[in-house]
Amino acid sequence: MSYQSVNPYTGELLKSFSLQTDAEMLEALARADARFNSFGTISERVAILKRAAEIMMERREELAALVTMEMGKRIQESRDEVSLSSAILAYYADHAERFLAKRPLESTVGEAWVEFEPIGVLIGIEPWNYPYYQLVRFVGPSFALGNTILMKHASGVPQCALAFEKVMSDAGAPDGAYTNLFLSSEQVSWLIEDPRIQGIALTGSERAGESLASQAGKQLKKSTMELGGNDAFIVLEDFDPKLAAKFAVQGRMVNAGQACVGSKRFIVVDAIADEFLGEVMRLMENYVPGDPADEATTLAPLSSAVAQSRLLDQIKSAVQNGAKLLVGGTAPDSPGAFLNPTILTGVASSNPAYRQEFFGPVVLFFRAKDETEALAIANDSPFGLGGSICTADPARGRRLASKLQSGMVFLNFSALTTPELPFGGIKRSGFGRELSSFGIEEFANRKMICAVDPSRLSNVVA
Ligand code: NAP
Repeated sequence: MSYQSVNPYTGELLKSFSLQTDAEMLEALARADARFNSFGTISERVAILKRAAEIMMERREELAALVTMEMGKRIQESRDEVSLSSAILAYYADHAERFLAKRPLESTVGEAWVEFEPIGVLIGIEPWNYPYYQLVRFVGPSFALGNTILMKHASGVPQCALAFEKVMSDAGAPDGAYTNLFLSSEQVSWLIEDPRIQGIALTGSERAGESLASQAGKQLKKSTMELGGNDAFIVLEDFDPKLAAKFAVQGRMVNAGQACVGSKRFIVVDAIADEFLGEVMRLMENYVPGDPADEATTLAPLSSAVAQSRLLDQIKSAVQNGAKLLVGGTAPDSPGAFLNPTILTGVASSNPAYRQEFFGPVVLFFRAKDETEALAIANDSPFGLGGSICTADPARGRRLASKLQSGMVFLNFSALTTPELPFGGIKRSGFGRELSSFGIEEFANRKMICAVDPSRLSNVVA
């Protein structure tokens, strides 16, 4: 196995990187562990994050071009990802000290408080679909807190992995604070078993989640799992169907459909379903395959030829099990790992596709007779990452949002992400949160300290 940069638009193999040897991996672990014990003050660490945020913006074009080349993202989306990643680092640089300040507790037995302390060396395992954004969601808070990080990035984006490591070292990250490693799954398993590793953060598929969460569990180590999603986009009869279609299609087509919080199931109340669907079909026709490095391109390739054939097989199986292909379902007659925008209807709950994530430009369309049925379809999913509800009635939207089984709900818009909004799911979408103040507490020791006042102890059983 090796880490390879393959341009999914041209199919060209750009570069290969060998796996780290076991000795190199152990040496990196020893350096990370040594650094953990002398990682400077929080003010020093956030200054490094601040500088890393600036460097990302200074290198925006170069960093964006690497994403487009390695996983095929449209160039403007790649630039937007770099800007967002920079903003996340800057957010933790600006807010970490406040988030980690000593927090007083009300207690009947004395003066008590919680202090937030780092726990040790962490390992991050990240996916290719947002090669910098996925890193910084974990790195920003962990680094500010004082944990040191070993990073195993996806094997398809090695040049992005190295470019980000260089951002961190050029920003002043001391030796051992952040290390990129090209590792196999077996090597990751050995690391997880090592007592110096104190936490595991995965963003990836259910399959990877099952494996890594069980390995972490066996070692009794803290983990966060940011896994797949099958987000519902619910449209109620009181909302403008054309506007809803615009938001839904944007939410589905972002990153060529390869976003965990993409709007994957459109669930629309009957009264406006035909008008909504007609508009969705019209909008999806506007996506035309092209070179992702060209500003004018609207539809980027999928991340790899393997991703393309996997998705084509998934669509074929959905149709064999009774779904109707309304549009798409094919690869265009051109080179590159493209999939034409696809809409599947009539996906019965007995169809395996009903419970699967389609990681590409594929919509599953459902009709519901009313809001109750729409919510029931939305919640009938093994996943629970995000979801959207469109209604002209704010009170109705808030009421239904509370009943949607997911980690995030967006009213009258498709899913989005900003540094201050917590990100994460429930059910098979995983556990834990990234971003916001919640993200920085995941790998912290929330240490309670109590200065006991014996004169207050009469009613307390020790
Ligand atoms: P993936 O195949 O699970 O890969 C993700 C990362 O895990 C890669 O670095 C991969 O390494 C590694 N990996 C996989 N199995 C492993 C194992 N047994 N041991 C150690 N490492 C392992 O996922 P993907 O297909 O790249 O990413 C797409 C999935 O991620 C989708 O399901 C998507 O919804 C989800 N996702 C979730 C979020 C979220 O925040 N919830 C965000 C983005 C994406 P290799 O590349 O070397 O195989």
